[in-house]
Amino acid sequence: MPYYDFYCEQCDKELEINLPIAKRNDIIKCEQCQNTLTKKVSLITIGYDNFALTGKKPDEGFRDKLREMKRNIPRNTINVD
Ligand SMILES: [Zn+2]
Repeated sequence: MPYYDFYCEQCDKELEINLPIAKRNDIIKCEQCQNTLTKKVSLITIGYDNFALTGKKPDEGFRDKLREMKRNIPRNTINVD
């Protein structure tokens, strides 16, 4: 199960939360102030998600993810190779 980094603006605190992949887009609230936490999207998280979904090695999966993003957003500037 992957860890996700969240940030609470109110407490100025970073939290690492263990979240099932199915819940990774759920809204998570701070235990202390009930503020909605901001998810810090990292490249490692994207790689892990893809690995978990496809069974590919993280590197390979991550490159596929970049290609997918490039396809979905034709004008972006992500350089895969
Ligand atoms: Zn808080």
